[in-house]
Amino acid sequence: MRILISRPLPGGAADFLRRCGYQVTVLPDDRPQEQFQRELAQADGVICLLSDPMGAAVLAEAARLRAIATYAVGYNNIDIAACTRAGLPVTNTPDVLTDATADVAMILILMTMRRVPDAMRYLADGRFTGWKPDLLLGRDLRGKNLGIVGMGRIGQAVARRAEAFGMKIFYHTRSGPKPDLPWPHLSFDALLAEADVISIHVPLTDATRHLFGPAQLRRMKPGAVLINTARGPVVDEAALVEALASGHLAGAGLDVFEEEPKVHPGLWQHPNAVLLPHIGSGTLETRSEMGMMAARSLHEALSGRRAPFTVNPEVYDTPAWRQRLGSGA
Ligand code: NAP
Repeated sequence: MRILISRPLPGGAADFLRRCGYQVTVLPDDRPQEQFQRELAQADGVICLLSDPMGAAVLAEAARLRAIATYAVGYNNIDIAACTRAGLPVTNTPDVLTDATADVAMILILMTMRRVPDAMRYLADGRFTGWKPDLLLGRDLRGKNLGIVGMGRIGQAVARRAEAFGMKIFYHTRSGPKPDLPWPHLSFDALLAEADVISIHVPLTDATRHLFGPAQLRRMKPGAVLINTARGPVVDEAALVEALASGHLAGAGLDVFEEEPKVHPGLWQHPNAVLLPHIGSGTLETRSEMGMMAARSLHEALSGRRAPFTVNPEVYDTPAWRQRLGSGA
């Protein structure tokens, strides 16, 4: 059976799959998207990335495909309903990337609260003439309110870290209060009004697209900062630029962008915008483990078993799934 890997992955995922007996094609980093789609038509299994659109039209061309493993926890690039209808299990890589991504959220909180981008530019521009009591004053984390939107794996990992810095934590999540968590649950509106820092950890869905639009940003506390390590389109970037330019918000820390890899030019103008190129899970250990997880899940699914971390488990045992497994080369 043939497996397609969208781009080279750190770690041993490709070798593992070869050892399992698959014919593995790893596409180069600089390949055009059309090459991925062409190769997909020949593949029995694929490890795709969050930057690979996997909509119904792409899937329709992939007649041999029996399983998809996405190298990410978020799967907003994949039409899951279409996959289920087509009998395709889709697996993702939760948990292993939680700590790495929560670390990046903390980096963004610290950098915006302490005005690090402004301070680095000040030094690089040769404006530093000596220590001054009021030079580039930031704000303490201790005692500040951190509002977490989306209190799942990563949201909780950020809460634990921020608590160690003395922040007061509250959260808003879709299903309401989680009795096992020690922090208060607030309505979305109350969280917007009370938080000095908001950190976003929801998946991108129809319900969360532009969850932070002009009205929500206006309801945030004057001088608050917004952190987004979830997905870019959860925030209306033009409205965020406006809120920063007007001085209503004091800063933004973004690892993700609305039209990745593009960054709204207005964001570069703000002295306290920390902008990172989607490196949330980007450590060697985490990315290697994500690859192994994707590879193991794909092997399970291609062997006709229920793969761990399947996001559409209802697909198993459907006639469409059986037909997919039975068809093939
Ligand atoms: P998770 O455990 O599924 O947590 C997501 C949380 O969001 C859940 O608590 C869920 O609520 C909540 N939620 C969903 N829809 C909501 C809504 N409309 N309003 C409020 N809350 C809502 O996922 P995770 O592992 O923490 O990952 C979160 C997201 O981070 C991923 O989907 C991915 O897009 C992003 N991510 C980014 C990077 C990066 O490199 N920057 C890395 C990893 C992940 P319930 O608990 O009520 O269901």
